[in-house]
Amino acid sequence: MMGLVRILFLVMIVMAVLALVRGIAAPSRPPSRGRPRGPGRGNRATRQGGKLFRDPVCGTYVTAEGSPAAARGRETVYFCSDECLSKFRDSTD
Ligand SMILES: [Zn+2]
Repeated sequence: MMGLVRILFLVMIVMAVLALVRGIAAPSRPPSRGRPRGPGRGNRATRQGGKLFRDPVCGTYVTAEGSPAAARGRETVYFCSDECLSKFRDSTD
């Protein structure tokens, strides 16, 4: 009876693969859901739950963690990217 067990096992594998392929071909979730709004490209700011700072160059909200920063007077300003940081430096220096 080993042959039958093997066939059943193979059928289960084929069904699992088919289910997987179907899941990849037709994702149930729409791809553009829960996108952060605002100009520029999306960032992880809203997901980390930290305090948000406004990028003074492009207006995107970012968290302090992992964002490029610069001093403006006594406060620290944060940027969405190094590109915005260098634009800010060009405008102040
Ligand atoms: Zn920016």
